[in-house]
Amino acid sequence: MMDEANRGRLSDNWQAVLHEIAEAALASSRKPADIKTIGVSKYVNIDCTRNLFEVGCKELGESRPQVIWKKAESPGLGEGVQWHLIGHLQTNKVRRVLQYKPIIHSIDSKRLLDSIANESRTQGLITRALLEVNISGEDAKTGLSPTAAEALLETLPIEGVEIIGLMAMAGRGSQPEEARRQFDHARDLRDEWRSRYGLPLPELSMGMSRDYHAAIAAGATMVRIGSRLFQGILDNE
Ligand SMILES: *Cc1c(COP(=O)(O)O)cnc(C)c1O
Repeated sequence: MMDEANRGRLSDNWQAVLHEIAEAALASSRKPADIKTIGVSKYVNIDCTRNLFEVGCKELGESRPQVIWKKAESPGLGEGVQWHLIGHLQTNKVRRVLQYKPIIHSIDSKRLLDSIANESRTQGLITRALLEVNISGEDAKTGLSPTAAEALLETLPIEGVEIIGLMAMAGRGSQPEEARRQFDHARDLRDEWRSRYGLPLPELSMGMSRDYHAAIAAGATMVRIGSRLFQGILDNE
């Protein structure tokens, strides 16, 4: 179990992150309320995840669907959490994970989109999802190339899924200026596609612990913060 000291650190870290994000928003003449902070709990166990929720983080991000269903079934994490799936989703895990109504940030193929749409219709849901776009050009990164994303956008709308925006990651080890250039590129693609395909695409999920500042300056509406929240905690557990 997490002791009092670690719980206090977690609460302080959460408040500090909220504060820094609000500052970054104001520095870009944006409203802090327009940026949603997702706490990425993939590094920590159920107990620490529950503590994060209890100190005020209601949006939780996980890379693996199995972890969402395990954590969502545990006491204290069922009601009131909005789960975000930020990692690759295999079609054989779609049915089970949809029961927890996650926002899916990682649509990376037409096949996956169709599978989520089918299963959402079966379960009577409208699933909110984002297209993961590869803006860094790195082969190792997952996500759709801009051309592949366009091919997929051509097929919308699709019943059962609402595509609410784009998710993007800066290339590994990008310096802040390079990250900023990549995030600007993602926003420009969103703006272009919004008018070309007549879709609102309000959300831009971009920015992690090391580059959220650049992402907010570029227009991010969702930032996904993990390691920064657990500073001083993971080593002591
Ligand atoms: C792990 C992860 C994050 C959080 O990264 P930190 O650098 O720990 O803040 C954000 N987005 C995705 C897709 C991730 O896999």
